[in-house]
Amino acid sequence: HSAVITIDGPGGAGKGTIARALAQRLGFHLLDSGAIYRLLALASLRDGIAPDDLAGLTRRAEQLDIDFRTDGEHAGEAVLDGQPVANAIRNEACGERASVLAALPPVREALKARQRAFRQPPGLVADGRDMGTVIFPDAPVKIFLTASAEERARRRHKQLMEQGVTASLDDLLTELKARDARDSQRQTAPLRPAEDAVTVDTTGASIDTVVQTVMEQARA
Ligand code: C5P
Repeated sequence: HSAVITIDGPGGAGKGTIARALAQRLGFHLLDSGAIYRLLALASLRDGIAPDDLAGLTRRAEQLDIDFRTDGEHAGEAVLDGQPVANAIRNEACGERASVLAALPPVREALKARQRAFRQPPGLVADGRDMGTVIFPDAPVKIFLTASAEERARRRHKQLMEQGVTASLDDLLTELKARDARDSQRQTAPLRPAEDAVTVDTTGASIDTVVQTVMEQARA
């Protein structure tokens, strides 16, 4: 098995940014597992599969044709059924639907092997909610990133503003707390640090500082 570094934590904790920076520094592959749940959400919305149609959702998860672009400025952009999705999976509607689907055990099961297939030489940085607990339990380096809910909402807000999307900070905070609650209270793969994970609080910390801290863990 090649090396794998897992980065788990709640939404807005900085997982994506930190995972991307780490993968770049180490020359590792990158798995944004949240994007897979978001792609399934998008596919189900497009195909009109109801969020309570367990068989339909599981079938769609099994058939999900996904990829991530590796070319230049588009690197990391998700591709669904051969079509790049750009920002279509980055809105709250998709995040919300993703977290509903992610609470269904057969759906999670259907996506397991697909996620593990990203583990390729020379190594992988995988970010999500259950990378260290379920998908790569043998990972030698596990990080759990946190930040206060207020700071996470502010980051989301800034991100959306940069994309030209207007959103209320209060609404974002409410949605984020609802998603945290659903992700941590579900029966299958609830959001929690793996026993052997190192928790890093990113509240008030710069990206560089956090990358530095995680790199030290990776070297240790
Ligand atoms: O991280 P992101 O906001 O893109 O994830 C969207 C949703 O997908 C999360 O709220 C969570 O419910 C689900 N998810 C998950 N397991 C993962 C990654 C994401 O359940 N490994």
